[in-house]
Amino acid sequence: MKTPAKIAIHSFTNKPWNLAECLARYQQADIPGISVWRNLIDPAEGGIGLTEAAKRIHDSGLSVPALVRGGFFPGETAAARQTAIDLNRQYLDEAQAIGAGMVVLVVGAVPGQPLAESRRQVRDGIAALLPHADAVGVKLAIEPLHPMYAADKSCVNRMAEAREICEALQHPKVGIAADVYHIWWDPDVEAELRLSAQQNTLFGFHICDWRVQTRHLLTDRGLMGDGCINVAGFRRLINEIGFDGFHEIEVFSEEYWAWDQEKYLDLILERELACRPAN
Ligand code: ZN
Repeated sequence: MKTPAKIAIHSFTNKPWNLAECLARYQQADIPGISVWRNLIDPAEGGIGLTEAAKRIHDSGLSVPALVRGGFFPGETAAARQTAIDLNRQYLDEAQAIGAGMVVLVVGAVPGQPLAESRRQVRDGIAALLPHADAVGVKLAIEPLHPMYAADKSCVNRMAEAREICEALQHPKVGIAADVYHIWWDPDVEAELRLSAQQNTLFGFHICDWRVQTRHLLTDRGLMGDGCINVAGFRRLINEIGFDGFHEIEVFSEEYWAWDQEKYLDLILERELACRPAN
């Protein structure tokens, strides 16, 4: 099955596979891109180490839209916030080593701390990283997360809040990763996507689906067609506003992780075709 030029899969989608398996299977299926999750790299999480990972990825010839993920800037103390900045600096180095265009930021939140204060800490954390982002030539993409994650994972829940940080920092390395799973419900989503394209801050575009009967807040995403998101409509809009990056397929699903991953990859490609806009 032939895939279009600009499809990538997030490695976590095929969680049972290691990096070598992901690279080989995506290559075989003519999928041109992989967004790499850090668990495949970091030995502390079972990964193969940066040097080996970088070598394998370069040898595969696959493009790497993103390293996933950095962020988690808010903290109760200045020391905690500095630790987060230092870690993200390391992630920028890792992204450069594997040839990734951006680090996706799940920005974080501190339970009980006002979200506005957390957002200020996110802005300051990203600001502190900008010289290093420039030095290594890697972008930082703020990913708004669905408000169900506002307590502890992300104080940025809509495109507008990500835009406000971009506008405050006004830096070509700071933009947005728009994931249909998180933003499909937002009444302003179309206007914000258009504005983001105009402001040159639309760095990433992630697709999957929202299962109407969601069974788990984190690990029950649907594959395109399983739920209620008009993914084809979003893809059409994204093309229309001039986005020319990868359409990144990103699904966390206990149900699909239990499948034979080869069969699952076939289904992923089938569903991707089915939600491909006509033009
Ligand atoms: Zn995403």
